[in-house]
Formats: sequence, C-alpha cells, structure tokens
Amino acid sequence: MHINWTPEDTKRYQQLVETQTRESCRIFSLLAIGLFPLYGFLDYYAHRELFADLILNRILGVTLFILMFIYVVKRYATMNPYLVGFFSLTLVTVMVTHQCYVMGGFVSPYYAGVSIVLLAGILLFPVAPRQMFIFVTVNIAIYLLGGFLASGLSLSHPYDFSNNMSVLLANGVIGVVASMHREELRIESFNRLLQAEKSQSELEASKDLLQKNLQSEQDNVAALVREMTARQAEIERALGLREEFISLASHELKTPITSLSLQTQIFARRVVQNQDISKDQMLKLITTYDQQLKRLNRIISDMLDISRIQAGKFELETGKIDLELSIKQVVDLAMSIERTTINLVTEGQLIGTWDGFRLEQAVLNLLTNAIKYGRGRPIDISLRNIADRAHITVSDQGIGIRPENLERIFRRFERAVGATEFAGLGLGLYITKQIIDAHGGEIFVESEFGKGSTFKVVLPVT
Ligand code: ADP
Repeated sequence: MHINWTPEDTKRYQQLVETQTRESCRIFSLLAIGLFPLYGFLDYYAHRELFADLILNRILGVTLFILMFIYVVKRYATMNPYLVGFFSLTLVTVMVTHQCYVMGGFVSPYYAGVSIVLLAGILLFPVAPRQMFIFVTVNIAIYLLGGFLASGLSLSHPYDFSNNMSVLLANGVIGVVASMHREELRIESFNRLLQAEKSQSELEASKDLLQKNLQSEQDNVAALVREMTARQAEIERALGLREEFISLASHELKTPITSLSLQTQIFARRVVQNQDISKDQMLKLITTYDQQLKRLNRIISDMLDISRIQAGKFELETGKIDLELSIKQVVDLAMSIERTTINLVTEGQLIGTWDGFRLEQAVLNLLTNAIKYGRGRPIDISLRNIADRAHITVSDQGIGIRPENLERIFRRFERAVGATEFAGLGLGLYITKQIIDAHGGEIFVESEFGKGSTFKVVLPVT
C-alpha cells in the first residue's frame, strides 16, 4: 500500500492523520460539553431518585471537557493528539461506568453510554487498527471493572451482562475492522494525492521545458533577425562605399586627364598660331605630362591591384633584397613628388627575401599618406633589425586619426577624411596591408588626433 513512499511522504501522511486527530479531539470535546448536560436532563426524568448521585458526575463531565476544550485549542499544534483523544474517550467511559456503578452495575441501561463512546471513537478518530484495538479493549475493560465492582465481583445478572457485553464487543469488533478499512481508504487517497502532485510537477516541468524551448527558439529567431539586419547594414554600407569609390575614382581619373587635355590645347593653339615655344615651356609641359601620367598610372595600378586581390591573384615575386637601399630609393621618390623633409634613420644593410617592388609600393603608400595628411611638417622614417625582424616606422606630425577609425582605415574603400578635404580612394592602406600580410608581417598604427600618426611595419627576415 505504501509502495514508493519516500521518508518525506511517510512523514506527510503521519502529519495528515495527526491533524485529523487534533480536529477530532476538538470536536469530541465540544460534543461532550453539549451532551453531558443533555444526559443530565435525562437523568432527571428517567432516574429522579438517583439524580442527586448523578448530577455531580454530569457537572464534573462538563467542567472537565470545557477545560479539555481550552487545552486542545491552546495546545492545538503541540499536543499529542492520540494521547489527548484516548484520554478524552476513556474519561467519558470512566464517567459512564461510574453512572452504571451508581445504578447497580451490569443492570444499568447506561452501558449504552460506553457503546456511544466506542461509536464516537470509531467515527471521529482516524487511528490505526492497533490503536483502535487498544482503545476498545481498555474501554470495555473499564466498564467490566465498574460492573464487577458494583456486583461485588460476582456475576449476579448474567443476562444483562451477556446482553451488554455482546453489544460492546460487537462495537469493538466493528471499530477495529472499520479502522482497518478506513486506514486503507486513507492510504489510497493519499496515494492519489501523491500521484496528482507528481503529475502536476511533471506537467510543470514539461511546461517549463516547453517555455524554455519556445524562449530559445525566440532567441534564435531574434539572433537571426539581428544577424540579418547587421548583414544588410553591412551590405548597404559596402554598396555605399562602392558608389562613393566609383564617383571618387572617376573624379581622380578625370583630374589628370583634364590637366593633360588643357595643356595639350594650349600647346596646340601655339603651334597653330605659329607662336614660338621656348625650351623652358617645353620642359614645363613635359614635366606636367610626366606628373599627370604618373598619377594616372598610380590610380590605375591601385585599381588593378584591388581586382587582383579580389580575384585571389595577388602573388609575390620574391628575391634577395637590400631593404635599406629600397627604402632610400622610395624616400627619394617621395621627396621628388612633394617637397617635404623626410628624415631617414637606418642601422645599415638589411638583406632578406621579399618582393622588393611590392615592399617599395607599401612604403611609398605610407610615405605619400604621411605627406598628404602631414600638414607639410617633417616626416620620420626608420628601419631597424630587432630580433631578426625588420621594423619600418613612418611618423608624421599631421592631422592624426581618431581612435574609432584606427582599425577600419586598413579596410577597402575606408577613409577617415572627407572627400572634399583630401583626394583619395581609400585603397592605399588596404593594398599596403595585403602586401605586408602576404610577407607574413604585421602593420599597426598609433595616432593622436590632431598631433600625428605613426605606422609600424614588422617583417620577418628570411
Ligand atoms: P586614401 O589616402 O586614398 O584615402 P588610404 O587607404 O591610403 O586611402 O588611407 C585610408 C584613410 O586613412 C585615409 O583616408 C585617411 O583618413 C587615413 N590615413 C592614412 N594615413 C594617414 C596619416 N598618415 N595621417 C592621417 N590619416 C591617415
């Protein structure tokens, strides 16, 4: 019957029965308080000659049960309900036995009182069969004792004795059997309660699981939406950058072409008008041509490099290179493009296997940027061999870069200046980084906005 009960379940069951027994004690006290006076009236009408002997018993009964009721109410939670119940029932049996004794023992019809007590015990108290047996036995024994005391320990009225005892014993047997049956029912309903609780908690658990699954699904969807929104923003940004690039590239290409076409027109007009063209004028024209063609060449080369990188066709052509020599050449070239002071510090020859053309392109990009964004102030470039790694540093004292832009300027088409302030396509640093990466090197930038920037390249010397 108690299959699968945990120690907690057993404790709960016992507490449940105890609570019911407490309630039974309270009800029994109230019943006794009501019934004692009622039977007092019965004494008066049915046995007026003994009323004086019985009234004390009734008064005592009411008083004791008033006290008992107060005790039960006050000690409701702490009292031992089985003891209190047993005591209350037995007390009534003692009082009824006393009445029977006063009225001649077994001949008294008041033995029915004992029967009523047994009935109350059976109906009100949810005790185990063993407890019920003890209660029944003790109460019948008290009655027997009273009866025998009244008849001088002899069986003077065998008929009354057997009649009363058959009723009381039958009550007793019914009590024990009923308590067995009621205990079974009690345990069964408790089992049902446990089952219901278990189903309830299983239901709660599956509800929780369902909610969790739902929540994680919602989270997944939300994450997906976030990712898609971010991607869309990225795509829109890339498209915006591309459009900007196209307009910048057209502008960048148009400027030298316009300049060339203007110079050509002036030259042509002079030829048509048979005007003399001095050697100086010729030289100036050729220099302009050369500069603009170089500019065009650089723009187109950058664009070609980008498409090569995109197509995965960007390859190095390596050979033994004297890096110090290469850098000196680049510095000279940069100074020829723009009149700027460039201070070069090197620690002597540094020979390794690199793609000389690409490294020069990378350093030239850094130098032309330093010139472009350097506000005409001196530029420092150094080459050092530190722990078998070539360290190239290009520093300027120009406009500097805001911290939030330090990373993105190495990406394609990214610029941290307005198109109207400085011409450019946002390709130089991207190509430079690709060149350095392809050599297994690294490139960093340190900058203070408004004070200047330092680009550092570290290359393995192989
Ligand atoms: P571009 O110079 O054509 O815009 P780059 O890829 O060479 O393209 O540079 C990307 C951006 O990085 C520039 O637009 C500029 O905002 C910033 N930048 C590069 N070098 C410097 C520098 N030395 N000082 C300040 N800003 C720089």
